[in-house]
Amino acid sequence: MATTHETKVVHNFNSGPSVLPREVFEQASHAILDFNHSGLSILEIGHRTTLFQEVMDEARALVREIMQLDSDHEILFLHGGASTQFFQVPMNLLNDNARAAYLDCGTWGTKAIKEAKIFGQVDVVASSKDRNYCYIPKGYGIPGDASYFHLTTNNTIEGTQMHAFPDTAIPLVADMSSDILSRSMDFNRFSLIYAGAQKNIGAAGVNLVVVKNDILGKVKRPLPTMMDYRQHVQNGSMLNTPPVFSVYVCLLTLRWLKHSGGIREMEKRNARKSELLYDTLDSLPLFRPTVDKEDRSSMNVVWVIDSPELEREFLAVCKENGMVGIRGHRSVGGFRASLYNALPLESVEVLTQLMQDFAQRHG
Ligand SMILES: *Cc1c(COP(=O)(O)O)cnc(C)c1O
Repeated sequence: MATTHETKVVHNFNSGPSVLPREVFEQASHAILDFNHSGLSILEIGHRTTLFQEVMDEARALVREIMQLDSDHEILFLHGGASTQFFQVPMNLLNDNARAAYLDCGTWGTKAIKEAKIFGQVDVVASSKDRNYCYIPKGYGIPGDASYFHLTTNNTIEGTQMHAFPDTAIPLVADMSSDILSRSMDFNRFSLIYAGAQKNIGAAGVNLVVVKNDILGKVKRPLPTMMDYRQHVQNGSMLNTPPVFSVYVCLLTLRWLKHSGGIREMEKRNARKSELLYDTLDSLPLFRPTVDKEDRSSMNVVWVIDSPELEREFLAVCKENGMVGIRGHRSVGGFRASLYNALPLESVEVLTQLMQDFAQRHG
């Protein structure tokens, strides 16, 4: 097709919504015009059709396979983004007179704590607020009578990541929005996992929730139907109209992930990308990574330049060279490069070369 616009070469470091595989975009585009040779767009099929039921079934089966989940864990695709889980979790798991333990290690966890307080008592077992969340607290105790322990595996804004998880007998609940499917871990250890799709799983508009049956049905409060995990389990994530297109994009991304080699391969790729970036940052004194070394994230890399003038200049260099989404979150400043599964190594190579050149000019 002739076009008057050349496609710009961009390197997409957006923190979310973010980069997805090219083939996912192509397949999703095609499905908008003609879904599975049905003559219908994915946007106009009923969610109770076999056509869509197959999408939902395959997406859930792929999540089970890729995460190696046991049969006690249910897989749900729900509306509302991860922020809805901040309150849906305590609404379903925390009685008025009971308490839940929370780890306060970043902006998102803080929001989860605020919502949980609406439903019961919250015990913040540790916090890294004292240093603007640039590290992961360690060596804290978790009360054995808490209903659950909530943590954030990767702090998207601050660029920290949990590389070990506490040993506790109480149910573990994790917000994995920004590092799900990016590294191997024993997902069966968690009683509830949630993740907004727009970072590593697919398009915005849907949440992946993995929940273990045995923690449900224990709160006394009546639950609105749409907020009750058990209702969604019983109805196979089809309690009402699901976000059809978003679920389909998840399916395409999950297929891509599986045929690319699964989580193990993603972990290798992500390590290669983040090591290259951190090594470059560590070798150039002009750039200063903000996170303690042992807690660095392989997904979101955050750094500053200690001169506002040079920060502006480097940002301009990035922009000129097709770097997108590299500006840091307003609460941290500086820069943030998000290296989600679908970001090619090449993008990090181009970025680190720009850093080398910039440091040489200003060194
Ligand atoms: C992006 C993000 C959220 C918020 O997700 P929404 O889908 O916008 O509600 C919550 N937690 C973490 C860790 C995130 O990265």
